[in-house]
Amino acid sequence: MAPAEDDTVRLKPPGPGSARRGLIGGLALLGLLGGGVWYGAGGPGEDARPAPAATPAPPQPMVRVMAEAELLALLPEQPSLYRLRENPQVFVLLFPDLARQGEALNRAAALIEKAGLPRDRLLDATELAAAIARSGDTPATWYLGHDYRSADLARFFALAERDRVALNEAELWLRDQFALASAAAGPGPFAMVSAAAPGPQMDMPMRMAVLRHEIGHGHYFTLPGFAGHVQAVWRNGFTEAERGAFRGFLGREGYDAGNDELMANEAMAYLLFTPDPRLFGPAQVGLAPATLDRLRELLRVGLTLP
Ligand SMILES: [Zn+2]
Repeated sequence: MAPAEDDTVRLKPPGPGSARRGLIGGLALLGLLGGGVWYGAGGPGEDARPAPAATPAPPQPMVRVMAEAELLALLPEQPSLYRLRENPQVFVLLFPDLARQGEALNRAAALIEKAGLPRDRLLDATELAAAIARSGDTPATWYLGHDYRSADLARFFALAERDRVALNEAELWLRDQFALASAAAGPGPFAMVSAAAPGPQMDMPMRMAVLRHEIGHGHYFTLPGFAGHVQAVWRNGFTEAERGAFRGFLGREGYDAGNDELMANEAMAYLLFTPDPRLFGPAQVGLAPATLDRLRELLRVGLTLP
């Protein structure tokens, strides 16, 4: 999710150097041992046990399950992975600040959905910094939250491997979490979404709206039939003028307005799952309140949580 565009709520860049603070040294280990993830029997630290007679089963990755209401109130001190109780195909990464979220996910955002950037290779650090600067953002504020299909993140890591691109420490941590989620989710697609803790650039109500927005995308990526319903409403329930208003709003926020599937997914997430008028409302999108209510109703009828 992009920061609000309106100047009255435009998130100010952090002070010099602050976006780079807290480079994630050692966090891969901390994330596994002290974060929201742990190993079941046979995990790290149990080597001193007597070896069982039979071949031991491989470690079973476990990801802590949390209800959405719990996640909305949760502010872990280290980057952590959780699984959404209401829809277990949605995995949620919570970061202690926007800078660390950006370190882990900005390059994936560039590959997967940021406008005007290559879709077939990873940017290097210089190219990524330039793309962020062109958008008027900092690494911390390029996105307030992130949401990806498992297949898109798998492609990100496969391209890094193919081109021998060195991942930064936060991206290596992300790769570990992706592997844990993959093992827990089983065969089938899943979603990884993220939000950061509140701070100078995002208060608690805005953070809650961002997390709800990203979880909404998680539903879109994983609930059978929901994406098709959203696409059908976008094509047939929105007028061309309404689609144009959303493309304008989302394009100003830095989304790729030429990607119609992304436009439909974002329109859904803003309409149904973004309860903060600083981030979304009639003024930002340039449509009447009654129009937004009508579109909400059309979208909502397709949403049935497991
Ligand atoms: Zn979004």
